[in-house]
Amino acid sequence: MQTIDNYNFAGKKAFVRVDFNVPVDENLNITDDTRIRAAMPTLKKIIADGGMLIMASHMGRPQKNPDPKYSLKCIQAHVAECLGVPVAFAADCQKADAEVAALKPGQALLLENLRFYAEEEGKPRGLAEDATDEEKAAAKKAVKASQKEFTKKLASYADCYVNDAFGTAHRAHASTALIADYFDADNKMFGYLMNKEVVAVDKVMSNTVRPFVAIMGGSKVSTKIDIIENLLGKVDTLILTGGMTYTFMKAMGGTVGNSICEEDKLDLALDIMAKAKEKGVKLVLACDTIAADAFSNDANTQLVPSKNIPEGWEGLDIGPESQKMFAEAIKGAKTILWNGPAGVFEFDNFAKGSRAVAEAIVEATKAGAFSLVGGGDSVACVNKFGMADAVSYVSTGGGALLEAIEGKVLPGIAAIKG
Ligand code: AMP
Repeated sequence: MQTIDNYNFAGKKAFVRVDFNVPVDENLNITDDTRIRAAMPTLKKIIADGGMLIMASHMGRPQKNPDPKYSLKCIQAHVAECLGVPVAFAADCQKADAEVAALKPGQALLLENLRFYAEEEGKPRGLAEDATDEEKAAAKKAVKASQKEFTKKLASYADCYVNDAFGTAHRAHASTALIADYFDADNKMFGYLMNKEVVAVDKVMSNTVRPFVAIMGGSKVSTKIDIIENLLGKVDTLILTGGMTYTFMKAMGGTVGNSICEEDKLDLALDIMAKAKEKGVKLVLACDTIAADAFSNDANTQLVPSKNIPEGWEGLDIGPESQKMFAEAIKGAKTILWNGPAGVFEFDNFAKGSRAVAEAIVEATKAGAFSLVGGGDSVACVNKFGMADAVSYVSTGGGALLEAIEGKVLPGIAAIKG
């Protein structure tokens, strides 16, 4: 497989799929440029080599072409500032021949939002709400047919293809996967960011150093079931926490008051417990809970056993005994995966459990464990607690990371790895 470090971009036109899907305010000012900064090592390497850089991304969910609210024009100046060279702009990603031809070594071009075209995602648009199944199928067929031409056009701009957009690696879109077919193995590669993500996921899911402890939290067991099932075949210890605790407690005959509980998933919870036992996985659930009399930071609280939440109260965080138990389970781990908070961490008064988990992960990391934090709210947790630099890796890809830990092959990765 080709690598970005081994590739000399001098005199080459490089099509780089980046994730510039940054949040902007109502005046189209960027409110968080993390994703732009994260792509810089790859982009700077291409410029420094004397390559010709063509950057392509989506932004938001435009439904027409053009859709000024989602134009990437608003990030052009900031990308240029970060990159340290001027950045030209092609106002239509399918009509950029002139701008591409004008590129000289060391110069950069940003294409307009790829998703102005339905072909990028290959999903039909503008279907009437009462469209029949036949009409839907015909529209899908039509967009798939034109997707090939769309992809070919993007590929025609460049000599090589670099994918640095891990956040969209789980999508088989034109620019994230299909385009790779137009480049031979020597001329397609991961960017630095993508590579870091792939290596991190690999360390956790494939080349695992044991013991492997996974902490899965969040609100519901139903949204995490595929991950839990996959992890049961890989981990030594599985800590299940957050709102899903109460589905397990109810399933075991406990009372959960107003706690979040999926009544239709009680059998599933018992099934997970049985499977864990069968596979020799140590399953850890909270034993004590901070219960609140309202879903509010200022609610009254009481410490109760997790399986005995009084009527009118709801469990919003784990208690001190559970914090200790979780920390003990995390201590000594050599590989750690954390997805999903242990409580409603957005409320400061119910963030102690998630903080304790984060602290235990930091300690284990200091002692030599590899720790991967990712998939949405646990990233927000480590950022809130100022601990992002104290874990081994914080993933930038929400949905993509979740699918990777479900054990799925991500199209954006497979397209390059072959
Ligand atoms: P998820 O998107 O499934 O990872 O869930 C993340 C959300 O779960 C966060 O917004 C947390 O506030 C929420 N959460 C964690 N613990 C609880 C709980 N005990 N009750 C209700 N929500 C919770």
